[in-house]
Amino acid sequence: MAKKHDGVPSHIMELPRLIVIGNNNIGDVGKFLKSLDSPKKVSLVSGTHVKKLIQKKVEQSLSESGIKFVWHIASDNSVNAIKKFQTKIGKDSSHMIVGVGGGRSVDIAKMIAFNLKRPFVSIPTSASHDGIASPFVSIRGDKPHSVVASTPLGVLVDIAIIKKAPKRLLASGCGDLVANLIAVRDWELGRDKTGEYFGRYAANLASMSANIIMENSGIFAKKGLDVRVIVEALISAGVASCIAGSSRPCSGAEHLFSHALDKLAPGVGLHGEKCGIGSIMMAKLQGQDWKKFANTLRDVGAPTSAKEIGLDSKTLAKALTIAQDLRPERYTILKEIKMTPKKAIELAKSTRVL
Ligand SMILES: [Zn+2]
Repeated sequence: MAKKHDGVPSHIMELPRLIVIGNNNIGDVGKFLKSLDSPKKVSLVSGTHVKKLIQKKVEQSLSESGIKFVWHIASDNSVNAIKKFQTKIGKDSSHMIVGVGGGRSVDIAKMIAFNLKRPFVSIPTSASHDGIASPFVSIRGDKPHSVVASTPLGVLVDIAIIKKAPKRLLASGCGDLVANLIAVRDWELGRDKTGEYFGRYAANLASMSANIIMENSGIFAKKGLDVRVIVEALISAGVASCIAGSSRPCSGAEHLFSHALDKLAPGVGLHGEKCGIGSIMMAKLQGQDWKKFANTLRDVGAPTSAKEIGLDSKTLAKALTIAQDLRPERYTILKEIKMTPKKAIELAKSTRVL
């Protein structure tokens, strides 16, 4: 993200221009898109289930605003599937690409918008990770970690829709948020050990998003998860990444652990669930209070053990052992520990993950 100019690398911060969080506001999508860029035609990328849920309101609103549209159903986020999908969407000759859905549809739309150099708008229908407002996407079969694409030009959140999504998704979002406290500590390590750029503002913003969950989890446990608070924290985390110019403030060793599991045991656990469990173990390695991480996750209803997500001890140990190698240039606490399967099992047992 940095361009050299007279020997000094420029730091580029690309931020979303308009973020709207409301209740029952999906019917305003036409007005929202119009205020962003007055598109004449948009490509809508969503999943079958989500489309059924919102189609009527979205189509009515777009028609009222005089915006033409083409629907696309996203299913597969592999590199090859995205390539084919991209060719199809390219033929729409639309002015904007809108991702409507949970993680996958938003990710696919974001990647394609970036490749086709068109503005991208994010309309999340669940809050399971911080990709809602960040420029990062996870693509299956490409790099083992997330890659940089377009920052959304706009983000439209309808809380009423997110409330209807399974609770497990929201709890997973909390796992992705507490991970920021591990990521920021790793970033500080990178700064101290390798002289890597460290952005204090981005780091503080990411930590703040995590602390909102850490500090309120007791209330969430009693009164239920506060959708608005979690969504706002996830958006702030995404913005922290935009400001950092990399996923650094929101992705450390716990994310490498999650990416290793994506590779070794695809389909086991949600992204935020794996990051949450990874955070408990990395907290111990970093000398942070791992019990606080575990208690917070338990309070919000997120898994704290391998068993809860159907992960066996052998795969867990392997994931911890290979995690750092997936992204050797990213300095994390795992650089300082020669992780072996034996040490991995000891770590998992000592933090009650196993
Ligand atoms: Zn994440």
